Amino acid sequence: MFTCMTNSPEDTGHLAELVGQKIREGTVLCLEGDLGAGKTLFVQSLARTLGVEGEVTSPTFNLMNIYVGICRIFHFDLYRLESEEELEDIGFYEYTEEPEGIVVIEWPDKFPESLPDEYVLVRIERTGETEDARRIVFSGVGERSQEFVKELETFVHTSH
Ligand code: ADP
Ligand code: MG
Repeated sequence: MFTCMTNSPEDTGHLAELVGQKIREGTVLCLEGDLGAGKTLFVQSLARTLGVEGEVTSPTFNLMNIYVGICRIFHFDLYRLESEEELEDIGFYEYTEEPEGIVVIEWPDKFPESLPDEYVLVRIERTGETEDARRIVFSGVGERSQEFVKELETFVHTSH
């Protein structure tokens, strides 16, 4: 587990870019944090780094967006989801079990039991010090993801 502090949307965007440089196909990335924390901004920068050129927006109403860059990115937002059945209906489990691309999930904490065994968790919190200050905590769930988070920590700390 490691923590980064950011002081602007650009800082968070840069951090997401570093994640984009390291992330591998097959990874599930869960993004926790209150409304307006910066989850979608993080995904936007990640997607740009992976070569996505079109619009990247929160799939709040349609639950999932698919972007195509150097690989496919499946972007879920569980905020408005009302039942686990809906997850099944949109094929969530097929996408997240062995992803053929990269899966990002906003509001994973709404359906904790539905998450896969392996994922990287990114928690974005307002620190309260300034309007734009954020604490971003990376952790891995599952052995592979913990290993990845360690690599990421080294990469982020040597890239700053
Ligand atoms: P979420 O998806 O978590 O609801 P968004 O990414 O849609 O949040 O919005 C985050 C908002 O907060 C954006 O308007 C962004 O410019 C602003 N913001 C201010 N400071 C930061 C920061 N340090 N990191 C990320 N976003 C920030
Ligand atoms: Mg969002």
